[in-house]
Amino acid sequence: MTQKFDVVVIGAGPGGYVAAIKAAQLGLTTACIEKYTDKEGKLALGGTCLNVGCIPSKALLDSSWKFHEAQDGFAIHGISTGDVKMDVPAMVGRKANIVKNLTSGVATLFKANGVTSIQGHGKLLMGKKVEVTKPDGSVEVIEAENVILAPGSRPIDIPPAPVDQNVIVDSTGALEFQTVPKRLGVIGAGVIGLELGSVWSRLGAQVTVLEALDTFLMAADAAVSKEALKTLTKQGLDIKLGARVTGSKVNGEEVVVTYTDTNGEQTITFDKLIVAVGRRPVTTDLLAADSGVEIDERGFIAVDDQCATAVPGVFAIGDVVRGMMLAHKASEEGIMVVERIKGHKAQMNYDLIPSVIYTHPEIAWVGKTEQALKAEGVEVNVGTFPFAASGRAMAANDTGGFVKVIADAKTDRVLGVHVIGPSAAELVQQGAIGMEFGTSAEDLGMMVFSHPTLSEALHEAALAVNGGAIHVANRKKR
Ligand SMILES: Cc1cc2nc3c(=O)[nH]c(=O)nc-3n(C[C@H](O)[C@H](O)[C@H](O)COP(=O)(O)OP(=O)(O)OC[C@H]3O[C@@H](n4cnc5c(N)ncnc54)[C@H](O)[C@@H]3O)c2cc1C
Repeated sequence: MTQKFDVVVIGAGPGGYVAAIKAAQLGLTTACIEKYTDKEGKLALGGTCLNVGCIPSKALLDSSWKFHEAQDGFAIHGISTGDVKMDVPAMVGRKANIVKNLTSGVATLFKANGVTSIQGHGKLLMGKKVEVTKPDGSVEVIEAENVILAPGSRPIDIPPAPVDQNVIVDSTGALEFQTVPKRLGVIGAGVIGLELGSVWSRLGAQVTVLEALDTFLMAADAAVSKEALKTLTKQGLDIKLGARVTGSKVNGEEVVVTYTDTNGEQTITFDKLIVAVGRRPVTTDLLAADSGVEIDERGFIAVDDQCATAVPGVFAIGDVVRGMMLAHKASEEGIMVVERIKGHKAQMNYDLIPSVIYTHPEIAWVGKTEQALKAEGVEVNVGTFPFAASGRAMAANDTGGFVKVIADAKTDRVLGVHVIGPSAAELVQQGAIGMEFGTSAEDLGMMVFSHPTLSEALHEAALAVNGGAIHVANRKKR
């Protein structure tokens, strides 16, 4: 007998698994189809995020930061450590354990919530039927009232640097090095390239980042990207802007990379090369020709603001649809879709999705940049507060960076919060909460913040918007 569910989700990444759990919580019979298996060949839920993305990269970032601190950051506190050593396989093993805990945690959550987990490749057929090809090759067709497509994305390959997962790796391969490469090349100065470059640089690799664009971190506020470039360069990342990779040749255990910049053609040799030039949506064998779901010109599944496709009852969420490729965006889209399936009014606020780069210092922002607002003709007041003036940051010996709050000059409504500095990811979320409720800079300035905290930097930056900062000279006078 054909199985039938209220909701069938294809893909168990942060978009799909969250949608499936939410659907089950709302009383809908739900199945989630996932094909990814771990190194032991076992079904692993959680998608890119838990298996080879957000979580493993942060595990390595945290380990490598602790190593860096033990090596260079303790002496100022009066702590001497002697010779600090890094056991790379142990670091990578710790990361693998965290991944295992979290992915098996999703399986437990599926059981606890009554989600039927189906292992296999899912394909949408006409009439909201889903064909599942199981690992043994058998095929089953299940029926659904609603289908949520959440197949995610995969790294983009570039012909000049074909990935062999040995010398030339993608982000997944870069999480698995068993030794620290002496000379590491990274193609792409985006979030993933900077995070993975930072990991291996902290452990002693000589890191060169080749970025085709002339502008560094174009999506960030210009003041933040300028500070980030200065700081990361000081940390030892050799970031070459306007460097377009044109070819590569693997010779045994090294690779010679050719790129062009303003001085013409250059070559450089690396022991490992990470290709981190972005990700593309996964739609391979996902849709039958007559499924009715459309793909846009950039390869994403075409959806409206509520993630509905052209076929009633079929939705698509996460990296496979327009917008930022972020786990929290995928999850919130999943929740929005399920709420709408249930008949509730739900709309997520695409204007307030925070972005974070987990370098040190962290870089995070929510809302618009000063340059974008000015380009739109919006008059703004800006307040900044440097962590160098924060007692808490001084106590932690972590004083790089600043908080920048941008408010509408006419209404004082906060339109952007940009942070480079310690715990930027957490601080920016406070800005996002305020902005969701339409906070003004004055509102933020009137709130009581605990002392001493890094959050006080947000308070002071909000006060500075109208010339009222206490612990720094105000650029704007009241
Ligand atoms: C190194 C790295 C670091 C990152 N760090 C961050 C971060 O710090 N913060 C952040 O927000 N984002 C981060 N991301 C991005 C984040 O991982 C993605 O945005 C997020 O995982 C997208 O979620 P998703 O559910 O859309 O897709 P995915 O997580 O890609 O999951 C899709 C799942 O669908 C499965 N699938 C695909 N097709 C089928 C099919 N036909 N049948 C069955 N199963 C199928 C896949 O196997 C996969 O498991 C990072 C990514 C990388 C690579």
